Amino acid sequence: MPYKLCEKVRKLEPYEPISGNYRIRLDANESYYNFPEVIKDEIKNIIGNVDFNRYPDPNSARLIEQFAEYYGISPDNVTASNGSDELLYLLASAMLTKNSRVIVTDPDFSMYSFYSYLSENEIITYRKNDSLNIDVDELIRLAKSENADMIIFSNPCNPTGQGISAEQARRLVKGVDCLVVLDEAYMDFWNESLIREASRYDNLIVLKTASKAVGSAAIRLGFAVANKTITTALRAVKAPYNVNTVSQEIGRCIYSHKDILDSRREDIIRNTARLYKSIKDITDNYKLPFKVYEPCANFVFIESDKSLSMYEFLLENSIAVRYFKGADALRITTGNEEENKEFLVLFEKFIIENILKRNR
Ligand SMILES: *Cc1c(COP(=O)(O)O)cnc(C)c1O
Repeated sequence: MPYKLCEKVRKLEPYEPISGNYRIRLDANESYYNFPEVIKDEIKNIIGNVDFNRYPDPNSARLIEQFAEYYGISPDNVTASNGSDELLYLLASAMLTKNSRVIVTDPDFSMYSFYSYLSENEIITYRKNDSLNIDVDELIRLAKSENADMIIFSNPCNPTGQGISAEQARRLVKGVDCLVVLDEAYMDFWNESLIREASRYDNLIVLKTASKAVGSAAIRLGFAVANKTITTALRAVKAPYNVNTVSQEIGRCIYSHKDILDSRREDIIRNTARLYKSIKDITDNYKLPFKVYEPCANFVFIESDKSLSMYEFLLENSIAVRYFKGADALRITTGNEEENKEFLVLFEKFIIENILKRNR
């Protein structure tokens, strides 16, 4: 018998982010800021001092200290990882077992079910209501009736940009016995975090990443914040040298620049509000049946039956955004002012040329 891949791998639908060269990238929710020169200079110095022949610190202790200081929490409650992706994989594979029951929500970040599928967890899907939000009471009931082992979702949500308040999240965590994983990848852009109280619950993990507001997607840093029991477990199940020394040191540097991070975050929030308002004004002005969601993250989610043709039109003009087939929606990451302006010009152009003219 020739070798054959196992069935779950053969059937896997790979996660395919956009590759290729586009002039304007508004597809991956990254920060539009690269590091400033002062930080780049510090990094050159840091790289010059790395012991490349030595394994990294397995606990990323100095990085975690800086991260914890930035968020005003204790380093004892933090685990560092090679992007929060690594933590998502560990949660599904190491913290659960085959056939463990995981609740994911829809729409939400697809990697949760991707890793649960690979880990052969039982996936239960909670469908969000028409305003694309989570009804916490419904979710609590579902967790109980389905005897769930874990609930995982992003707050604010990627791709919808909607979120539940800290009070609602607290109610969820207290209302269920199972593990609740709150992926707060975008919470830097909103103010409803449970990160500072995560250690007080026996069943909560808050995930953070350096890839979005912190503008460091290239170095792959993620973090889990939880009580000491969970933290000990996460540190035990991860690969020993999961975060390389270069990333640990650069991460330590970037989190030490609170002023820079804070002012950039404010700028991204401002530009997102402007982008949302401009998109809304355009669609209202032409009385289009587009549903534009007011975001609490750094992107705008738009539902319409023109999503695919709009997406293709933008790509032809070298602007990459994200298209969601199932939801028939587009997610536009906030770019810098010029990028947003160019996007808006093309967005309106498409509407005039491909929607209004055809309808005449
Ligand atoms: C981008 C994103 C992450 C970050 O993943 P990294 O592996 O840390 O880059 C995590 N969760 C959600 C919902 C995201 O959108």
